[in-house]
Amino acid sequence: MTPSRIEATLLGTGTSTGIPVPGCDCPVCLSTDRRNNRTRCSLLVSVADRNILIDTATDLRQQLLREKISHVDAVLYTHTHADHIHGIDDLRPFNKTGAEPIPIFAGSDATSSIRKNFTYIFGNSERSGYCPRLSLNEINAPFELFGLSIIPIPLTHGNGQSLGFRFGPIAYLTDCSAIPETSMVLLENLEVLVIDALRFRPHASHFNIAGAIEAAEQIGATRTLLTHLSHEVDHAKHSEGLPESVEFAYDGQKLIF
Ligand SMILES: [Zn+2]
Ligand SMILES: [Zn+2]
Ligand SMILES: [Zn+2]
Repeated sequence: MTPSRIEATLLGTGTSTGIPVPGCDCPVCLSTDRRNNRTRCSLLVSVADRNILIDTATDLRQQLLREKISHVDAVLYTHTHADHIHGIDDLRPFNKTGAEPIPIFAGSDATSSIRKNFTYIFGNSERSGYCPRLSLNEINAPFELFGLSIIPIPLTHGNGQSLGFRFGPIAYLTDCSAIPETSMVLLENLEVLVIDALRFRPHASHFNIAGAIEAAEQIGATRTLLTHLSHEVDHAKHSEGLPESVEFAYDGQKLIF
């Protein structure tokens, strides 16, 4: 099912270091164009007053304050690299007294890794003090949340895997270096594709800009936003070289369907 209105906010569009990169004095890191200031990758999807967060990025607290987000009702994880998960502790303010734990969803490998790496949250014996209350759910097929159909899209991420997610007309594919054929069929008739495009030079675990544009052409989305950007990308300068339907995403950008 697709609700009548879906709002998506790009909370973060930067690679794992964030941009500016601490200690770097390149023109993009010193830029005053706020579109070159990129926190770690995350997306917020809002439907019918419910907020679904994709990943708990390292910069989650900053993103929540910047976008004035007052509640998080569920979290979907793409994979468990540090830049996508280490903000997990910042979910605590959204655990309301007496309310159920916040449901979080991840693929099977990610579920075991989350359970193993965050024993202070999920371990029976170590739990103490003020820590997030989360219920961990494994996903391996499309499911529904708050009236919204969510399709997990398996992706190749270097030697590993990640999950993209499709919500009606929008697909969010961060952290990928290839899209398996079986996933391509899940991406037909998209209005907006958000896809990893780290930098101009090739990288073993991420699409570079040329690779992302090629994948976007194969998918045939009406509009494509490039994300997980490094400090090689100067928003204004390099936007000029992009095809008409492709643009660089920036922090705080909103998409409404
Ligand atoms: Zn990443
Ligand atoms: Zn730099
Ligand atoms: Zn990654």
